[in-house]
Amino acid sequence: MTLREKPRLLSSATRVLCAGAIAVLSCVSAGAVDGAGIREFEATGVPMQARKVAAHTYYVEGQAGVVSTANEGFNSNAGFVVTSQGVVLFDALGTPALGKRLREIVRATTSQPMRRIVVSHYHSDHFYGLQAFVRPGVSVWAHELVRDYLASDAPAARLAERRQSLAPWVNSLSRIVVPTRYVGEDTRFAMGGLHFRVLHAGPAHTPEDLMMLVEEDGVLFVGDLVFSGRIPFVADADLNGWIDALERVLALKPRIIVSGHGRYSTNAVADLAQTRDYLVYLRTQIGAAFEEGLDFDAAYRQIDWSRFAALPAFEAANRRNAYQAYLNVERDALKAAKDKP
Ligand SMILES: [Zn+2]
Repeated sequence: MTLREKPRLLSSATRVLCAGAIAVLSCVSAGAVDGAGIREFEATGVPMQARKVAAHTYYVEGQAGVVSTANEGFNSNAGFVVTSQGVVLFDALGTPALGKRLREIVRATTSQPMRRIVVSHYHSDHFYGLQAFVRPGVSVWAHELVRDYLASDAPAARLAERRQSLAPWVNSLSRIVVPTRYVGEDTRFAMGGLHFRVLHAGPAHTPEDLMMLVEEDGVLFVGDLVFSGRIPFVADADLNGWIDALERVLALKPRIIVSGHGRYSTNAVADLAQTRDYLVYLRTQIGAAFEEGLDFDAAYRQIDWSRFAALPAFEAANRRNAYQAYLNVERDALKAAKDKP
């Protein structure tokens, strides 16, 4: 951890409020091409197919690891539920181009129109594809805490970064699509004879995490509460809240879990274990080092990471995750000191 690294991570973790996001909220029309010939939806070459996991429920599965030009940003999952009165989508993938491909896959699966999109959280790999779906009659739902994210400087900073790192699939015509409806803790709705619950699970992976239960299918979409087969991304996380949220997932007794990254699960207990073990290890190891009085660098060097080092995304994510864990532990210690009579 260098001195220059620290403020950047702090600002990402605390999502400092600022008006910078407003500039990126401008609109472009569907299918637009700008003067330089840049298309709103670039062609994608990355393989994508729908996998049916229950009577009405499908998902597409991104590649393992972090976003890259090799996977064109397709490292996350999105799901859709086909009812007799329209389609409900859960998350929209990480670029407008991937969103367009997903839209085509939904169209090839059903003639039902897209009606509603529930966004698990406002990390770019889950919502940049919304741009391909926005039109009259399609509502976009997210938790009300997304307002805090949209009011911060983080959306503009992330979009600028992705225009570099994921060009041309994220480009000058890419924009931030804002929700049309903000939901609270537990929202139920029915569509075409199916019943849905949209549950707030944060603060966990992010403050605004939403899960969606498709009751008749027993399918629970959990967004980034569960990372299957890779190191989780913890940079905006509340570790204690996240570990508690995994207990809530188990209490819902889903037959099938579709997570934000990796293969779907038919065995929630076993497949939650990897994410949970990692989070608990972070919390206990960093907590112990903090108690010893070690600063972050010393703590990170002292901890044995070997049991997770072979997992995808370890190199890209582990140090930042550990730093976020350190901030969590520090915050909890300050709060405990303040609460002491
Ligand atoms: Zn995420």
